[in-house]
Amino acid sequence: MKFNTEGLILASKTLKDNVRLVTVLTKKDGVIRCFAKDKRLLSLSRSNALSPLTYSRLSVFSGRDTYIIDDASEEMMFFEASADIETLAVAQYLCELCIHIVPEGVSSDEALSLLMNSLYILSRGTRPILQVKSVFEMRLMSFTGFMPDILACSACGAYEADTMYFLVSGGNLICKDCFHGEADAVPLSRGALQALRHSLLAEPKRIFSFTASEQSLAQFADCAERYTLARTERSFNSLDYFKKLSQFGK
Ligand SMILES: [Zn+2]
Repeated sequence: MKFNTEGLILASKTLKDNVRLVTVLTKKDGVIRCFAKDKRLLSLSRSNALSPLTYSRLSVFSGRDTYIIDDASEEMMFFEASADIETLAVAQYLCELCIHIVPEGVSSDEALSLLMNSLYILSRGTRPILQVKSVFEMRLMSFTGFMPDILACSACGAYEADTMYFLVSGGNLICKDCFHGEADAVPLSRGALQALRHSLLAEPKRIFSFTASEQSLAQFADCAERYTLARTERSFNSLDYFKKLSQFGK
């Protein structure tokens, strides 16, 4: 059966005999893995449509358990070849997260919009890289069934305090009066807590529209990353690479 789809190319890898394995986040079918073998399709002039971080229209044959790309056209490339290397590393990490979290065969409109918005803002450089990365992480976690409880202290119901703690394993908050030195707690200033709540509760168009001090952003980022790694129970090469780059740049 042949069908048309569109989506963001998350990864592309050349296998033997010049066959390309392309991983795509589609609107309606989640993440699908397709083969491209047609010489015409893999020619230099056409292959941009199958390159990572490109939004493309695809014509696909679906066999019993494989997808084969029959034709592809590029709609939008998010990054120039000269893009900042740290920005590209985060963009790849967002794609890697989708590959491992979004299953095949589910409607993935929300995840695709989130990824496209995040890549757009990263490519324009209008918000700090850590802000885009952390909002994406929390939002993707909430779409995939891991919405944390961030409304109030889960012991006494306090809405805010100078310092609240996010417990990574439970995905809940406790205030400083109810805190008993739990090992997986991430301290959050008022600004960091506000950023965390905004990332999860704001309407989709406004998720990146907030400002936070450098310290609050660092706490929010620590919370988002640790929560994501705990829930996905794995490491990500692109994230390790980004962290090396950030350490090197300091
Ligand atoms: Zn409390």
